Amino acid sequence: MFNKILIANRGEIACRIIQTAKKMGIKTVAIYSDADSNSLHVSQADEAIHIGPSPSSESYLVIDKIIQAALSSGAQAIHPGYGFLSENADFCRQCDANNLAFIGPPVEAILAMGSKSAAKNIMANANVPLVPGYHGDDQNPATLKQSADDMGYPVLLKAAAGGGGKGMRAVYHADEFDQALAAAKREAKHSFNDEIMLVEKYLQQPRHVEIQVFCDQHNNAVHLFERDCSLQRRHQKVIEEAPAPGMTEELRQRMGEAAIRAASAINYQGAGTVEFLLDSSGEFFFMEMNTRLQVEHPVTEMISGQDLVEWQLRVANGEPLPCTQDQLLLKGHAFEARVYAEDPEQDFLPSTGQLKVLQAPTENAHVRIDSGVVEGDQVSVFYDPMIAKLVVWDSNRELALQRLTQALSDYKIGGVTTNIPFLYNLASSAAFKRGEVNTGFIEEHEQEIFHRRQEDLDYAAPLAARAILTARVESAQQIANQSSEPNSPWHLANHWRASDSSPQKLNVTVGTEQVEVTADSSQDWTQMPANIKAVSDETGFNLFTPKGVFHCAETPPNLGLDQGQDSSGNLTAPMNGTVVTLLVDVGAAVAKGETLLVMEAMKMEHTITAPSDGKVSEFFYQPGELVDGGAELLAFEIAEA
Ligand code: ADP
Repeated sequence: MFNKILIANRGEIACRIIQTAKKMGIKTVAIYSDADSNSLHVSQADEAIHIGPSPSSESYLVIDKIIQAALSSGAQAIHPGYGFLSENADFCRQCDANNLAFIGPPVEAILAMGSKSAAKNIMANANVPLVPGYHGDDQNPATLKQSADDMGYPVLLKAAAGGGGKGMRAVYHADEFDQALAAAKREAKHSFNDEIMLVEKYLQQPRHVEIQVFCDQHNNAVHLFERDCSLQRRHQKVIEEAPAPGMTEELRQRMGEAAIRAASAINYQGAGTVEFLLDSSGEFFFMEMNTRLQVEHPVTEMISGQDLVEWQLRVANGEPLPCTQDQLLLKGHAFEARVYAEDPEQDFLPSTGQLKVLQAPTENAHVRIDSGVVEGDQVSVFYDPMIAKLVVWDSNRELALQRLTQALSDYKIGGVTTNIPFLYNLASSAAFKRGEVNTGFIEEHEQEIFHRRQEDLDYAAPLAARAILTARVESAQQIANQSSEPNSPWHLANHWRASDSSPQKLNVTVGTEQVEVTADSSQDWTQMPANIKAVSDETGFNLFTPKGVFHCAETPPNLGLDQGQDSSGNLTAPMNGTVVTLLVDVGAAVAKGETLLVMEAMKMEHTITAPSDGKVSEFFYQPGELVDGGAELLAFEIAEA
């Protein structure tokens, strides 16, 4: 076995790999950028080598620097983690050329799967079912459009080099095609420096079911069951689970065999994932193969009892697979929720800043936390804003789901906005409990998940009032306790008194709505229902209930200040980034909602739209220019009525 490996990655996955290496007695070398000099993965590794400035294009993506670091540290192998250079054929080649084992597949396998279009041709030959579509070399826009017209709408445009849902656009009507193609190409060019597009039939409400495969250098191949990753937003995974709800042993076997055929067709070695779309009739179609360890590998580890990083190291070292197919047993059910610094209420805008509070639920046989940050760390603009992966396991889906909601309500994070309330709402929604997942789940259940229904308000407002009054009684009690006569009612330094039986009016804010609640004081306000929990934050408190989590606050009295909407509010940059393109001419009439400007921040496109009918009188930035978060991007004149 290797005695030293370099980990060409950062964050939680670097920490995850270090953990297994330690267990196996292998020394680890971390690499880090300026922004990561005090990070967890650096402190956990045996050695750490600085490789450059914070932007990943100058550090984690620079092949030469990483190879040099490996050579100078005496590492014998490189683990690329996921993302960054993990599926980069040049990097793999450079490892080979420098006699460093690449802990991943051979370069030919990466090349075969690197292009979604080339991969489809290989899979068709290996008898793996494909989503109907066009994956040809002729990239003439007219050809692409013709293929979409022939196939019938809706279609999905995909970047051949794509990943992470980038460079992807659904097109519902022929007349939207050209604009969608331009946007998808632009995003693809930016993210992957490659504009090649494929066009696929856009399946309605499919499930995303993927198979974990493993192959060694001795022609052995197994699958480690499936993961259902249907819960997605913007085509990015949010909650994953294994096994897939409702999966039959027969379908599992057919999908597993197809996945192994796919891997064998390209002489695969190491850990790989074959992604399929599964339709409601049980038909499945190959989507792509990821030639690396996946973010969501922990759910597979939980149900199989195997350490996939250990398998990777053994295979890269030339050993046979640790198990045969028959020896692999599926036990129980696992979920993974990706905890992100982002604001689901604002279209999942990443949230950056210091993690002033970071207290994860306690880890045990049922709860696992994979994270690369600790309290006090920064969520920076440079990297993916994932804070942790929360993984839970239990003997069946229902129990595992209870573990998930419990653990989410135990998570305490302050300083940045997180998606925890959103994850909790997803996990506690009735349809998810029933296992009715598909890739459109979040959109379909948006009203329920975001609590935009009147019934949600009616449910939460009295509970919020109750929480506020409970807190008042408790704080009054605390003040009383500190005085010499703790039990004296005269020390309840609060206008809320146990003896005061007149109904009280209380103004509470639930989400963005304000409600007046009449609280009946005859109840015992110190007794919140057992399954309801209030956790305070900077602006109020989160109320965790069996019907989801509600952000609430006591509404401050209206001081008569004008709270008129700032009509220029959405004409500012949402965060530091780059202006990509200006879409209208200065002075030209535009309609409300029309896209005026596209900027890119944290590898995502953000569009700035017209707040009303009117015209742009000036753009303050040109394409390619950097802008600071909050900067005015343009001047807008509202059309006169
Ligand atoms: P990426 O590599 O960017 O992650 P994928 O090809 O893996 O892109 O697709 C990501 C997600 O997009 C899938 O999980 C699925 O939800 C959706 N998707 C992809 N192709 C189709 C399709 N043809 N029809 C419907 N949904 C699709």
